[in-house]
Amino acid sequence: MRYEEFYRQSIDEPEQFWAEQARRIHWESPPQQILDQSNPPFRRWFVGGTTSLCYNAVDRHLAERAEQLALVAISSETGVTREFTYRELYWEVNAFAAVLRSLDVGKGDRVVIYLPNMAEAVFAMLACARIGAIHSVVFGGFAAHNLALRIDDAQPKLLIAADAGMRGGKVIPYKPLVDAALNESSAPPPHVLIVDRGLDPQMTRMAGRDLDFAELRRAHEGVEVPVTWLESNEPSYLLYTSGTTGRPKGVQRDVGGYAVAMALSIRTVFDIAPGQVMFSTSDVGWAVGHSYNVYGPLIGGATSLLYEGMPTRPDPGIWWQLCERYGVHTMFSSPTAIRVLKKQDESWLKKYDLSKLKWLFLAGEPLDEPTAQWITEALGVPVIDNYWQTETGWPAITLMPGLELKPTRFGSPGLPAPGYKMKVIDENTGKEVAAGVKGVLVFKPPLPPGCLTTVWRDDDRYVYSYFSHFKELLYSSLDWAVRDEDGYTFILGRTDDVINVAGHRLGTREIEEAVASHPAVAEAAVVGIKDELKGQVPIVFVTLKQDAGDGTGAVTQAMQQCVVDQLGGLAKPSRVYLVNALPKTRSGKLLRRSLQALAEHRDPGDLSTLDDPGALDDIRRALERGPDQGS
Ligand code: AMP
Repeated sequence: MRYEEFYRQSIDEPEQFWAEQARRIHWESPPQQILDQSNPPFRRWFVGGTTSLCYNAVDRHLAERAEQLALVAISSETGVTREFTYRELYWEVNAFAAVLRSLDVGKGDRVVIYLPNMAEAVFAMLACARIGAIHSVVFGGFAAHNLALRIDDAQPKLLIAADAGMRGGKVIPYKPLVDAALNESSAPPPHVLIVDRGLDPQMTRMAGRDLDFAELRRAHEGVEVPVTWLESNEPSYLLYTSGTTGRPKGVQRDVGGYAVAMALSIRTVFDIAPGQVMFSTSDVGWAVGHSYNVYGPLIGGATSLLYEGMPTRPDPGIWWQLCERYGVHTMFSSPTAIRVLKKQDESWLKKYDLSKLKWLFLAGEPLDEPTAQWITEALGVPVIDNYWQTETGWPAITLMPGLELKPTRFGSPGLPAPGYKMKVIDENTGKEVAAGVKGVLVFKPPLPPGCLTTVWRDDDRYVYSYFSHFKELLYSSLDWAVRDEDGYTFILGRTDDVINVAGHRLGTREIEEAVASHPAVAEAAVVGIKDELKGQVPIVFVTLKQDAGDGTGAVTQAMQQCVVDQLGGLAKPSRVYLVNALPKTRSGKLLRRSLQALAEHRDPGDLSTLDDPGALDDIRRALERGPDQGS
């Protein structure tokens, strides 16, 4: 079927379209109603149907592909590669589920997973899905405070953590971060299940609270745990993401809608058929990791490659070597990773037989033309930019080569995916803008299956954060966009105070709070500025409570450290500028966009609301003088 017809049907006859798509998965009992939109902007897909993400990802494949590889977990850090067939995956997931049950984890309980890209992260997620527990994976690069915030919100029955992760050959102990997070948390779970890789010999355990996974697994090996069937709209998992406040939002996903979106997209977007190999370089802690390292490929009966390490170690050919060894059909990565590889000798790309590789998908941040051009030529396969958000769970704007490959257009992720009623509207009037005119990218409800169903335990926040921006009830992506005459959409950056560092979303408010936790800081303003490698990096302008005397270097360094300790290295401001005042409107709102423009040597825009014009001169002088810390 051609793309236009497919998309049209999804919009004009949604119930018929999604009833058809629902056949891609196993239902223990079929849906009674395809779509319930009696309470907008909430909607329920496949009402009354019961299913299981675990059954669809594992058990369902045993009849036909038990001996096929399901998961390959490669660590170029530890040097260990582990391969699991669907049969082996089945037993691992069952053993893990039995361990969870032995710890009194059951349907509806939350389990926070703080593991690096290792096989146990996948087993843990699927084991939760098997027993109806709600997992929430927290990216291993997040520091203690970030972990504590998520624990407080999710109130888990169990935390699963590794002894350590590794990056660039360096061991990064996780356990001290876990201990600090649990100290800070107001809802610490009774147990921490530790997956010990023996990387941190100094690791300490708290008797009674900290349990050893290997020991418990041995006791439960060979146990089969029956699937807990869930109604399609019950929660499957939470994934926290940054917004404009310091408090992350628990994006909540359902079961049936998500399973259908995964089954549909793995085939029609990512062109993966059962038995083929998908290599996504994402971390399991991100939305891509959930959807295209775990659920998408496994629901689709494919082989999924999971990679722990850097793209350049042990050498810059490692990813292409893996593509050759496993016959990767579709690869999925980020523009930042490709920019890292672009700095290396191109011969690394030519060393391996990549004849099986058909597509490279890139997402998470704008794909710049030089990077797209370089990798397209170097690989000789189409590079597909695709736009989505943690909230959507799968691409909202993309090309669909599994259905029909439309021509790619540099700078644009392409056309709307099925079910996304997309518009670009004027920020003030809410009216659709003409082709070539910049506006806000919105989706008209109902959101398609797979997208978030609400914010965890906060329906009001769901409505307020996403659907309250315009008179008409519309989901705001909070991204600027422009469409061309043919409907190709170009993404022009965020409308809110969120920045995108190496494809990862960070709230400027979170970073400001961390900087301001330093006792010398009066106020902090964080903006993202262009960076050649990471797309954007945070920089911070700070006013001090009193003169830091001759110790400004130490103070600014300590501020950066506050951010690293609380949020993780990703959020560390690359530069710190000490200033006398921050530019604000008369109503006290920080003029972040003007700050950002000045830092990027652009026109600061409309300053009619500026309270103290002197503040801007002060910023200009600070920028000329250079940072007080950083490069
Ligand atoms: P996250 O939820 O962390 O994946 O961040 C989602 C945000 O990343 C979006 O709102 C966009 O601002 C940005 N983004 C994701 N994919 C793309 C893309 N293909 N092109 C441009 N920006 C993107």
